[in-house]
Amino acid sequence: MIAIDFAGKNALIMGVSNEKSLGWAIAEQLLAAGARCIFSYQGERLLRNLEKVTAGQQNVLLEPCDVTVEADLERLFAKISSEMGSLDMLVHSVAYAPRASMEGRFIDTTLEDYHTAMSISAYSLISVTRHAEPLLNSGSSIITLTYYASQRVVPKYNVMGVAKAALEASVRYLAAELGPKNTRVNAISAGPMRTVAAKSIPGFTAMYEKAAQTAAMKRNATQEEVGKLGLFLLSDLSSGITGEISYVDAGYNIMGMAID
Ligand code: NAD
Repeated sequence: MIAIDFAGKNALIMGVSNEKSLGWAIAEQLLAAGARCIFSYQGERLLRNLEKVTAGQQNVLLEPCDVTVEADLERLFAKISSEMGSLDMLVHSVAYAPRASMEGRFIDTTLEDYHTAMSISAYSLISVTRHAEPLLNSGSSIITLTYYASQRVVPKYNVMGVAKAALEASVRYLAAELGPKNTRVNAISAGPMRTVAAKSIPGFTAMYEKAAQTAAMKRNATQEEVGKLGLFLLSDLSSGITGEISYVDAGYNIMGMAID
C-alpha cells in the first residue's frame, strides 16, 4: 500500500469559506497526511468560519489576503517566508463573478464585470504563482479549481466560463515555465457541488440535479472525491503529470447525451 506522508511539507490553501468549500476538502486530506497548512482568506468576515473549520487542528496558520490587492499578496508571502521558509504545495481555490453578469445574457457582460471575473478567477493564479515562485521547493505542486463551462456552454455561467477557459490556459503556460524547476501546475475540473460560490449561480439546484442524471455514474461527484484527487495531484504519486485538467465529475464530461 502507498501511504502519503506530508510531514515536514508546507502548503498554502487559498479560498476556504466553510466546511463545504472545495479548498477545505483538499486541505483536510493534506492535514491528515501531516502537512503544515497556511490558509489565506478574503476578509475578516471569513476569519470566524476558518477558525471554526480548523479548530483542533495542529500545524495551521491563518492570514488574510484579497488576491486583487498586491499589498495583501506581499504580506502573505512575507509571512510564509518568515514562518515556514518554503512551500511544497499551493491550492488556488478562488473565483468570483458579479451575480448580474451570470443572470443576464452573456452578450451584455460589462467590461467592469469582465475585468472582475478575469482578475479574481484567472489572473490571480498567475500573480499568486509569481509570488510563490521564490519559495517553491523542487518537487512542489500547484493546483487550481476549474469547471467544464470553460469547454462547453453551460447556461448562466457566462463570463465565469470565459474566466475558467483563461484559467485552464494559464495552467498550461505556468506548467511549461515552471516545469524545468520541477514544479508542477494542474487543475481539477470538479462537477457541480453545493458550496457558497455555487449558491450565487442562478438556477444551480436544477443544474445540479440534471448533472447527476446525465453523468456516467448517475450521480454527482463529492467534495471528498475532490479532496482525494487534490491529494494525488499534490503528492509525488502524480510526479509525471503537469499542465493537465483532471475531471472529478462522476463522468459527466464524457457524455454526449444523457441515457435514461
Ligand atoms: P467557496 O465559496 O467555498 O470558495 C470560493 C472562495 O473564493 C471563497 O473562499 C472566497 O472568499 C474566495 N474569493 C473570492 N474572491 C476573492 C478575492 N478577491 N480574494 C481572495 N479570495 C477570494 O466555493 P467553492 O465552490 O469551494 O469554490 C472554489 C473553487 O472551486 C472556485 O474556483 C470554483 O469556481 C471552483 N469550482 C466549484 C464548483 C462547484 O460546483 N462548487 C465546481 C467546479 C469548480
